[in-house]
Amino acid sequence: MSALETVPTDDVLLDEIQSLQGIHGSELGIQKIWDLIKAEHPEWSFGLKRLREIRKKNNLAPTPPRNSSLPAGQIILELKMVLPDILGGGAWEYDEPFPAHLCTPTSDPKDAQPLLAKIIGEREFDLRAKYKWKCLFCPKKATACYGCQSGALTRTPPLVVNAMYPVCSMKSLCGTFALTEAKRRMNEVHVPSK
Ligand SMILES: [Zn+2]
Repeated sequence: MSALETVPTDDVLLDEIQSLQGIHGSELGIQKIWDLIKAEHPEWSFGLKRLREIRKKNNLAPTPPRNSSLPAGQIILELKMVLPDILGGGAWEYDEPFPAHLCTPTSDPKDAQPLLAKIIGEREFDLRAKYKWKCLFCPKKATACYGCQSGALTRTPPLVVNAMYPVCSMKSLCGTFALTEAKRRMNEVHVPSK
């Protein structure tokens, strides 16, 4: 810690969390809260873990979503993040709050794409950080995942399966390989419609 840094008290951090959630809503991710506080107070020294604990202790963390506690207009979307068998397989399942109006038979699946891409991107980032995957096609570290989605948004609950193809870089030849592989494998992924 440098001389310029200060360590804020729990109460000070709690105030910040409360005011940020007041502005942005309680679904605000802990990383985002950290970023926003840090941007406002660059001299503060505090960890993500501490922030998360303060938030939890004061019952400010979003409750794990199940239909009863969902905000109005939101439903649970089942998200499956899948690693291909060639990488040892593996699947991670998440319940994501999602706007109901994007999942009706008359809604355009394209409208759901930006939010879906954001959610998938965050989950993928966490998984990649945790498991430190290597590129599918070379020995380098994976810095991105080519994602290939299939899903049934009108199913109850809506389901999205995202197959991940970790690559060293999207722009490399490995990225091109991943695209080809993803296309080939997508034809084999079975998504139940009911
Ligand atoms: Zn590679």
